[in-house]
Amino acid sequence: MDYVSTRGSAQALDFAGATLAGLASDGGLYVPREWPRFTEAEIAAMAGRPYAELAATVMAPFVGESLTRERLLDLCRAAYGRFAHKAVTPVRQFDEQQWLLELFHGPTLAFKDVALQLLGLLFEEFLGRSDRNLTIVGATSGDTGSAAIDAVAGRAKVDIFMLHPRGRVSEVQRRQMTTVLAPNVHNIAIEGSFDDAQAMVKRMFNDAAMTDRFAIGAVNSINWARLMAQVVYYFAAGLQLGAPHRPVAFSVPTGNFGDVFAGYVAAKMGLPVERLIVATNVNDILHRALTSGDYSQGTVTPTAAPSMDIQVSSNFERLLFDLGGCDGAALAAQMAGFEATKTMQLTNAQAQGAAALFTSARADADEMSQAIRWAWEECGELIDPHTACGVHAARGAGIDKGVPVVTLATAHPAKFPDAVERATGQRPSLPVRVGDLFEREERCVDLPGDYAAVTAYVAEHAVPKG
Ligand SMILES: *Cc1c(COP(=O)(O)O)cnc(C)c1O
Repeated sequence: MDYVSTRGSAQALDFAGATLAGLASDGGLYVPREWPRFTEAEIAAMAGRPYAELAATVMAPFVGESLTRERLLDLCRAAYGRFAHKAVTPVRQFDEQQWLLELFHGPTLAFKDVALQLLGLLFEEFLGRSDRNLTIVGATSGDTGSAAIDAVAGRAKVDIFMLHPRGRVSEVQRRQMTTVLAPNVHNIAIEGSFDDAQAMVKRMFNDAAMTDRFAIGAVNSINWARLMAQVVYYFAAGLQLGAPHRPVAFSVPTGNFGDVFAGYVAAKMGLPVERLIVATNVNDILHRALTSGDYSQGTVTPTAAPSMDIQVSSNFERLLFDLGGCDGAALAAQMAGFEATKTMQLTNAQAQGAAALFTSARADADEMSQAIRWAWEECGELIDPHTACGVHAARGAGIDKGVPVVTLATAHPAKFPDAVERATGQRPSLPVRVGDLFEREERCVDLPGDYAAVTAYVAEHAVPKG
């Protein structure tokens, strides 16, 4: 399998190359040249297998020659062995139609662990074969940072520089990042929003002064390997609820469009997906794009679901590329227009292709609270504010009664205890495995929201590519 850029002019890479590269040199995102497809019989045969085996089966066509099948399975067992639940991503029932897919049993209580625990091992594996050092630079609205730091802390040949918008991540999220004192971990709090931080990271990927000296890698969901690992739990949940013999709909709390794009990939691979419901909070660029074709950047409004406080969704580019006939030159022009004007109109092919599978809904603060209250009072489940956006959208989506609707529970409720307590009167407690988070020493530098200051800091502390 080789990987091409959505903007058409970067060199194609194999899986190992795409994993280490992050953003393509033409500013695009790597996507597999074609979608592997499983037959119905192949999908039926996946039922009842341990998660790590399912993961290796679903990911093998994407990994290609970069890893042997045995090695891939070893890495999956190591990554998913760190989860606190045997099923890794268990499914729970709300009512006769609504279900919850719990993705928060990893070390940092966020769904991002599912992909990043594997990605950390893939980095170590691929770097171990070369003389290269990798400098990971990422931006986080909270959960990516802690999950990425946990996944690479102490690993050889990798440094991680994680930017977060100062004061805009929860205290649990911040401490999960800043209390990791491994020497290869560098936390940077910047003045500004998540989008400002992400824009700096993107700029660094295209900055020859940096890329000539450092091999800059990505842990944001622009990294294809992350999305690949997320495809697996769509299969896991679908199989539990009757796939391939009956279709399943998914409601996905969405920010950067990575998680829900993994659902699109699962559908492309043959999983019968009835609908993908894109759930946003009031930062609703995706809801607007999917309902009216208008992808235009608004200003970020902070909400109780900070990991969805995003006005530019990087992975939407992957969908636009696929729906636009995989025409890299056309997409490069479309994205250049967006970057210049901060607004873009979907083409007819893109809008119609999206409408065939995607629905969307947005939740305001009251609707988020109501969804948290509903889950608690009617079903006895505490859910976090991100998951609440998904539940709100799932219940209002009008999916046929016979089709199960699975909301992806993207964070543990104890990561956002204040919002949960306001809605239910219950304060969720942190699982014991998180330990003495509030007693540990923190380490973090404060920098202005200024590209030159951030690059100077990275250049001073990173190891050249070698
Ligand atoms: C990252 C995150 C999201 C958004 O996921 P995307 O892949 O960026 O769409 C939603 N909820 C939580 C809790 C997250 O951490």
